Amino acid sequence: MTRDQLRQTLEFYRDLGVTDLYRPSSGAGFSLRRGLQPPRASPAPPEETLPLIPLAPSGDTLEKIQQDIGPDCRRCRLCEQRSKIVFGVGDPQARLVFVGEGPGADEDAQGIPFVGRAGQLLTQMIDNTASREGIPIRRAGVYICNVVKCRPPENRTPLPDEMEICGEFLFRQLMTIRPKAIVALGSTAAKALLGTKDGVTRLRGQWRKWRDIPLIVTYHPSYLLRPYNQNAKREAWEDLKKALHFVYD
Ligand code: URA
Repeated sequence: MTRDQLRQTLEFYRDLGVTDLYRPSSGAGFSLRRGLQPPRASPAPPEETLPLIPLAPSGDTLEKIQQDIGPDCRRCRLCEQRSKIVFGVGDPQARLVFVGEGPGADEDAQGIPFVGRAGQLLTQMIDNTASREGIPIRRAGVYICNVVKCRPPENRTPLPDEMEICGEFLFRQLMTIRPKAIVALGSTAAKALLGTKDGVTRLRGQWRKWRDIPLIVTYHPSYLLRPYNQNAKREAWEDLKKALHFVYD
């Protein structure tokens, strides 16, 4: 961990009222010194199951989906300014998938999702929250991808047609991995997966479903990097704990 990453992590947890970050975790029952309540059992996700509409060819694999996208996809205008297609990263058999909006400059340069500042925060949130909760999972054990695979110019929000075209590949990725749960990071991912216009403030923290897979919406890490969003950090942390306990307990 670099000095910058360490500072970011400490700031994140300090804002949550966690002052004992380096105390060895005592597992799921740890108590915070101030500010927050001890973790509570998460309510189970809704029981009803939606009909499963087959989307993906049977026998689909992540490799096949990547091949179908192709090395120089030109299906939408995002191809014009992108450097690298950012397909996804992580364990193809992950039990938890995080879906973001679209690559930024660092992701576009490296071809890997969530490697810039927001990505570093996401990594720290996953690794540190899991560690403190006594859950043996780290970023490498989940799967991370985006609604669109190419960087929108100036990091603008992807347009509806771009989301629709690339969404086909996202849906195939999710159907292939079939995780136990999905975390939608921010409103673009929520809109793509739930088809809702509701904002994150309204959607976050409640179990929903993408097809038959439980899904929870939380804030995008870029939003959490803004210094005035202290309450959102606490809420994002609660959402993440809920998802991690649901999937790995
Ligand atoms: N923001 C996203 O939504 N995705 C990334 O991969 C990076 C930043």
